[in-house]
Amino acid sequence: MPSMNTDREVDLLIAGAGPAGMTAALVASIEGLDVLLCEKSDQVGGTGATSAGTVWIPGNHQSKAAGFDDSPEAADKYLSALIGENTNRELRRAFLDTGPAAVDYLEANTDVQFVPCGTHPDYRSNMPGAAISGRAVVPRPFDGRLLGRDFKRLRAPIPEFMIFGGMMVGKPDMAPLIGRFKSFGNFFYAAKLFARYVADRLRYPRGTRITMGNALVGRLYYSLKQRKVPILFDAAIVDLTRDAGRVSGARLNVGGKAIVIKTRKGVVLATGGYGHNKALRDKFMPQPVPVHSMSFAGNNGDGITVATNAGAAMTDQDSSGLWTPASITIRRDGTTGLYPHFMFDRAKPGLIAVNSTGRRFVNEAVSYHDFVLAMFESHKHAPSIPAWLICDAPFISTYGLGVIYPGHGNLKKFEDNGYIVRAATLDELADKIGIDPAALGETVARHNRFAKTGVDVDFGKGETELNRFNGDAAHRPNPCIGPLAKPPFYALAVWPADIAVSTGLRTDGDARVLDDEGKPITGLYACGNDMASVMGGSYPGPGTTLGPAIVFAYRAAMHARGTIG
Ligand SMILES: Cc1cc2nc3c(=O)[nH]c(=O)nc-3n(C[C@H](O)[C@H](O)[C@H](O)COP(=O)(O)OP(=O)(O)OC[C@H]3O[C@@H](n4cnc5c(N)ncnc54)[C@H](O)[C@@H]3O)c2cc1C
Repeated sequence: MPSMNTDREVDLLIAGAGPAGMTAALVASIEGLDVLLCEKSDQVGGTGATSAGTVWIPGNHQSKAAGFDDSPEAADKYLSALIGENTNRELRRAFLDTGPAAVDYLEANTDVQFVPCGTHPDYRSNMPGAAISGRAVVPRPFDGRLLGRDFKRLRAPIPEFMIFGGMMVGKPDMAPLIGRFKSFGNFFYAAKLFARYVADRLRYPRGTRITMGNALVGRLYYSLKQRKVPILFDAAIVDLTRDAGRVSGARLNVGGKAIVIKTRKGVVLATGGYGHNKALRDKFMPQPVPVHSMSFAGNNGDGITVATNAGAAMTDQDSSGLWTPASITIRRDGTTGLYPHFMFDRAKPGLIAVNSTGRRFVNEAVSYHDFVLAMFESHKHAPSIPAWLICDAPFISTYGLGVIYPGHGNLKKFEDNGYIVRAATLDELADKIGIDPAALGETVARHNRFAKTGVDVDFGKGETELNRFNGDAAHRPNPCIGPLAKPPFYALAVWPADIAVSTGLRTDGDARVLDDEGKPITGLYACGNDMASVMGGSYPGPGTTLGPAIVFAYRAAMHARGTIG
């Protein structure tokens, strides 16, 4: 949009076209504000485009209508148990009070639509107030063809989340695709997906049946386009301007040209947090500072930097990140990627995780965030980064491992490129990955005894709803514990990687950025991962970052409009 590439004045400038920034721009536009959305890259979506797209909204009406009961009050009790009664009280109240309304508002006024997840347990499902179902929603799949030529502006998911080099599959697609020869229904379902994909590839660089986080940002982008909300691409916020004590606008770098945008109502920072800012990682993250981040490569902490330069305060959170164990993949073009071990392998029966001593250090079936916290803790006593996921041949063929899907016919490819290590015996496997064979042998023998009794006396694997949800319900006596018995044996290294950061700008419940004295900096808002997480560094359940990103973006826009606050 060359005509926009000049100094100008708007009501609200939003920096960053991820889920948070696009929501803020959309709501502000619907509320009648003159809005400009600037995006540093040439595409919308940020990390949100590569996410699973689950959104944690306690008491949401979509789940209620589908028969799943939940309430913000129960979630409040849960958060009190998890992070303390008084932690982030004001933010928490704002999040819980507004969550269902924010989602309803998007559904009523835009093309952003959600479906309830149904059963999807909270990540500390044994705590008071935790929900087993009804708290999370996901975006309805989106038809990318609606974007026309601008489909190319929608950032693609990571290759690890696509099959055939460009076809997205959502969670509900997995079972029919994997079991495509098991029933006519499955076969028909899979055939329809493939046919659509083949047709897509005649015209588009990837499949246009869009699911998960890509559907969320696709729907946000489509809605912005329908409302003709201007988006300035290749436009990075580099500085804030101030006038009489309030933020009066910002300086942008637009393709190398400096321009100034003056704002009547304010600037919303939604640049995705500091995942790729080394200085901030060194300052806030645990030691040794993890080197891998799954956030979008352009998330350099720009929003945090411009705000702190203008006197904003930050809130440091426990561990400062929201974590997943990730394995390092070798992509088709020879480059490396990261595969997040969220839910498909760790909790299944027949897999253990060990550190460099060959000993287990964690209940493998806990949430991805808690798994990495255990890695950090274990690493204080014995090298545990990377940790190793160990399993046998039947495990891989039944459940898959990382990017290797169940029943994959060519494991050799993954051995040859170094993704997995294979050995005929456990001793040989231990040798190959540099851990003590005797210790690994003892660990496996002990775990195999747990498989018989169904009781993990060391770490309690399989004892919570979350564990069992991700296990194999058909496996007895414990859906998460099975023997490692049939060679060959396999090992896969996993590393801590942040999928989001939790340390960020301190705000009030209307997403207004606060200074060191706790006073709002007039005209400055932050949401998404630029804002310090309302969850106090914890990871309560599926959708922990996208839920607050949407809610506080909504509240920021409404406050700027003057509707609330
Ligand atoms: C594999 C994976 C799965 C995930 N699944 C989930 C999930 O299911 N549920 C959940 O809640 N969370 C999930 N997350 C985390 C979630 O994706 C992020 O927390 C979320 O996208 C953050 O939204 P955001 O808008 O703050 O930032 P982003 O989505 O990262 O967007 C930030 C945008 O700001 C732009 N930007 C950066 N600097 C500037 C600048 N100076 N000026 C202008 N623009 C700038 C970037 O280019 C980017 O487009 C997942 C993450 C990953 C990696």
